[in-house]
Amino acid sequence: MSAQPTLSSGNRTTKTQIRFHNTMSGQTEPFVPLVAGEVRSYTCGPTVYDFAHIGNFRTFVFQDILRRYLKSKGFRVIQVMNLTDVDDRIIQKSAAAGVSIREYTEKYIQAYMDDRRALNLEPPEYIARATEHIDDMVALIQRLTAKGFTYTSEGSTYYRIAKFPGYGKLSKIDVAGMQTGARVDMDRYDKDNARDFALWKAPKPGEHFWETPIGPGRPGWHIECAAMALKYLGDTLDIHSGGVDLTFPHHENEIAESEAATGKTFVRYWLHAEHLLVDHEKMSKSVGNFATLRELFSHGHKPSSIRFLLASVPYRRQLNFTPESLQGAASSVERMRNFVSRLRAEKFPEGSSPAIADRAAKAKEEFDRGLADDLNTAQALAAVFDLVRDANTAMDRGEFRRGDAAPVLEVMETFDAIFAVLHDDDAEKLKALGISASGPTLSDAEVDALVAERQAARKRRDFAASDRIRDQLAERGVILEDSRDGGVRWKRK
Ligand code: AMP
Ligand code: ZN
Repeated sequence: MSAQPTLSSGNRTTKTQIRFHNTMSGQTEPFVPLVAGEVRSYTCGPTVYDFAHIGNFRTFVFQDILRRYLKSKGFRVIQVMNLTDVDDRIIQKSAAAGVSIREYTEKYIQAYMDDRRALNLEPPEYIARATEHIDDMVALIQRLTAKGFTYTSEGSTYYRIAKFPGYGKLSKIDVAGMQTGARVDMDRYDKDNARDFALWKAPKPGEHFWETPIGPGRPGWHIECAAMALKYLGDTLDIHSGGVDLTFPHHENEIAESEAATGKTFVRYWLHAEHLLVDHEKMSKSVGNFATLRELFSHGHKPSSIRFLLASVPYRRQLNFTPESLQGAASSVERMRNFVSRLRAEKFPEGSSPAIADRAAKAKEEFDRGLADDLNTAQALAAVFDLVRDANTAMDRGEFRRGDAAPVLEVMETFDAIFAVLHDDDAEKLKALGISASGPTLSDAEVDALVAERQAARKRRDFAASDRIRDQLAERGVILEDSRDGGVRWKRK
């Protein structure tokens, strides 16, 4: 059994029971990994046939929050993320472009890795490309064949779902009455079309294929993840995650493949992120309602605002994406950054107040309690924002002391170990991506509010905050002119 890591805050020590919602049981369950202190986790990565959109990044940000949270609780995390660099869409698109699939996918893999860096997504321990694991997939298909779970037809190998009694247990589809032997060749299909699915597909003329002991062809999508997960993480994983659309058929089929081969439970906790929506419809390439990160960056949105927005809505809640919500995220990040710079730069009177230390300890506990509750990021954030508000008030009233800064900063660091938005490197990140962005234009009222905030900072001699606001305004094309009498005028460039 695993020992639960302990959280200490100040002189109190609390045991937080981590709970995750498991799609398999439909319940929120205590999280206890198979091996104490270690979490083995598989993340379905992108299908690299195009640029990933921010709906995809909603799920990838959730997976990063999950990883960072587990690490912050003292677990050693071994995370594998695949890159689906061969599937139906890639085969079609690379054939249409007349290039090899390697050549076709390279650009999108690079873009995806760059986008991950821009969003501060930590690199998983293993990044596994499907095309580099064909042998493992073939070996897994051979194991399934040896156990009688497959059959072939016209050069393709299919999985016989009627042979696997647990088929449907994740997605809860009813397999009774399903026509035995009906097949589906596509990688992606819906529940109504639950059929025997292709593990290995015979090549069509002009398509890329591999010459293997099970014949020429290419893998189906589901066997890719099953083979790579088993290879790097063993027969039983602690966590497997992806967006809700992967529950069926992808994850259902991964279970059928791996459990039939090993005879063991494949995954102990299945975590699925709800979709990012636009006008209440799933953001997706096929609907055409998608935005890539690059598009948002070139319209002046910052990497930190996008990360914050995607992280701030708990992963099991749908996230309706609007430009206003991005603006809101940007000002939340600014408020936090300004607060930390105030904590670091302002000269407070000597001493310390037990009330503030107590307030900070309470915020830390609530932050932790939020995340322990199935990664409730909204609850965790509320705890930090309450602290920011109370500490700012204490500072304005002259009640904040020099010794109070450290415990409050510690909470901000705890927050940032998970949310990763406080370090102000947005401009550098955009530069690294070759994007020159001018921020969205500010309204006069917004400029006035920032100018007033800067005046207040100057008045309390917080010159770091005042310079930062000047820079923020300059980024948005607003120039300040300080007059001798302490007043300020502004104009647009
Ligand atoms: P794909 O590249 O299609 O394999 O998808 C990569 C990841 O993005 C998967 O985990 C999907 O479930 C997830 N995903 C796709 N669309 C959305 C969306 N609109 N909101 C959240 N996650 C999504
Ligand atoms: Zn997968």
